[in-house]
Amino acid sequence: MTGDQIIATAAVAVALVSIIANVLMWLEARRSAEASERSAASSESSAADSRRMARLGLDQYHDYLRPRVPGRVQTDTVEDPNRPGRYMVQALITLEAGEAPPRDYRVSVTGHTLNSTMWLSGAFTMRTGREERYFLGSISPGDPIKIVELSVKFWPNDAVSGDSGLDPWSCPCGLDDQDAGHWRARVPVDFDPSAIGDPRYLH
Ligand SMILES: [Zn+2]
Repeated sequence: MTGDQIIATAAVAVALVSIIANVLMWLEARRSAEASERSAASSESSAADSRRMARLGLDQYHDYLRPRVPGRVQTDTVEDPNRPGRYMVQALITLEAGEAPPRDYRVSVTGHTLNSTMWLSGAFTMRTGREERYFLGSISPGDPIKIVELSVKFWPNDAVSGDSGLDPWSCPCGLDDQDAGHWRARVPVDFDPSAIGDPRYLH
């Protein structure tokens, strides 16, 4: 090998080393680009997972706080002290105990007849386990009661709009509940017109 050949061979070797180094750098660059893409994708999906978990948590918490309404509304009938021979029919509602500790809900109660609805007078709050009464109407013995179903809107008794005498609480789910109610229930009314005249109802 002549001196020129040695120089040429060395030059080729240097060039090869340089090419190899470039290839290695390119591979490394690509690997790290892929790795950062993967890690971006994985942090995106873990953020999505977190959002989903948080959402699921809030929805479940919302359900945990949901008032437990009886399947049917019972009624009680008392003679109207101001109108002898007429009877006042009241709906009795007691929220049942659930997983959540007893609490006060703000409520709005509406009665449904076959073709109309009316707001019912009675308590503005219901507490788990405590019976509340709502006036359904005044009837003569044997008359049916027109209200066949109640719909109840419930709200958490929050500090802003709740009764200040009660412990405030709120549901963090973020539901826009101003008019619609935070929770809603429709419950059929049990009433037997023949019950009037039954001594049990003549208080
Ligand atoms: Zn809620």
